[in-house]
Amino acid sequence: APRVRFAPSPTGYLHLGGLRTALYNYLFAKSHGGAFILRIEDTDQSRKVEGSMDALVNDLAWSGIVCDESPALGGKYGPYIQSERLHIYQQYIKTLLHNGSAYKCFCSERRLNVLKRDAVKRQQLPKYDNKCRNLTDETVKEKLSAGIPFCIRFKLSSECQSFEDLIFGGIAYDVSLIEGDPVLVKSDGYPTYHFANVVDDHLMGITHVLRGVEWQISTTKHLLIYRAFGWSPPQFGHMPLIVNADGTKLSKRQSDVKVDDYRKNGIFPLGLVNYITLSGGGFEHVPGEGVRLKTIDELAEEFQIDKISSHPSRLNPDLLEECNRLEIKRQIRDSILCKNMVTQLQELIAEKYKDQNLFISEDHIRNVLEWSTSRISRIEDLVSSKFAFFWILPSEHCNVDQKLCTAVIENLELLQEFNQDAIKDRLRQFSSSNGIKFPALMKMLRSVLSGLSEGPSVVEMMHLLGKSQTLQRIKAVSK
Ligand code: GLU
Repeated sequence: APRVRFAPSPTGYLHLGGLRTALYNYLFAKSHGGAFILRIEDTDQSRKVEGSMDALVNDLAWSGIVCDESPALGGKYGPYIQSERLHIYQQYIKTLLHNGSAYKCFCSERRLNVLKRDAVKRQQLPKYDNKCRNLTDETVKEKLSAGIPFCIRFKLSSECQSFEDLIFGGIAYDVSLIEGDPVLVKSDGYPTYHFANVVDDHLMGITHVLRGVEWQISTTKHLLIYRAFGWSPPQFGHMPLIVNADGTKLSKRQSDVKVDDYRKNGIFPLGLVNYITLSGGGFEHVPGEGVRLKTIDELAEEFQIDKISSHPSRLNPDLLEECNRLEIKRQIRDSILCKNMVTQLQELIAEKYKDQNLFISEDHIRNVLEWSTSRISRIEDLVSSKFAFFWILPSEHCNVDQKLCTAVIENLELLQEFNQDAIKDRLRQFSSSNGIKFPALMKMLRSVLSGLSEGPSVVEMMHLLGKSQTLQRIKAVSK
């Protein structure tokens, strides 16, 4: 069974792209009865952000992704935080030093900066010139005893490395054309991403690496490191960029959209997860099938890695709204989830309309929720001024004909069943027998009930408010 990992660096919060990576790894593992592992890659201590590891873990849990092994759960291959594995990297770097695949580099920061500056001047890629590759043993000894700090670099052979990308197909690069020998261990003894990543993927028995396409060139480098160790590499698949709806690159601000922000803005996890899979592919396309919401288990069951799209995945805010709307519909059908939504709404309403007479009984909220699913995509929408009349009395309304209102009350009171057809028939009859135009009557009643000049039909409004609340509101203005 496959073993896959999600390996974020704790440099900030979980973003949409990160969630997509985690999700596809998870779905891939679960679709084959495999394991999903969370590994924290925190070897770049300077970029570490306090608290971000906990936030990442919380965001993952919120989205419905469940780890089989992680820093919190532990597992056979732990520790799962790279800064707790330094002794392991120290051990493994020796292998590469001994077999001649890696070497100590004593170049100073200053020299590297000069190299960089010169390259920029000549409009070339800044590239380490591999100067220390061929130092004699003698020189190395001297430098070591002189206490000159050193890092350890990997000898990048100049050859085209090719591999079969699970998503992109055949990929081939000669990395040595773009880069000088990469650092494996920094002068402070910490491994770089590339080294720790390869060592851990191997030691943790990772069989498939699915990650963003920005790592695709690195993969050719990683393959050389696997070879230097004599290890057989996992299979690699890279996921395309996420871009704007028009295909342009995301700005920094957009790509920084945190999963937590979606949550705060009323997006439900399953809505977000379905949105990601609908945008990114990974499923048999059924022609003519509209947007259908799937549970995480259904997604795992139907997932096919070769169906992941290699085209950039375009943001589609409308699709996200649609997915969330479907999720609200699904939750309404589940009594526990529905009750949670009702409680959430009660809290939101009480907070927004403090110190007012609130009309927020459970039944009432449930009715409005059910009615609203084709009109809203977030629970919060129901608290907006457009729908405030469901919960509070209108604060103002247009001029009313008090006598007419009294007559309407008498008519409505007679209704046994307060359903839409009955209300409509009664009001129509009333308007014709009283010589008042139906639209004019509706306009007045709408204002009395909601204080608004537009909104749902008056009959719908009455039905949702119920008989006693409807009559109460009309009575309030007819005195
Ligand atoms: N730590 C890397 C990141 O933050 C992991 C990349 C990979 O999956 O190899 O994206």
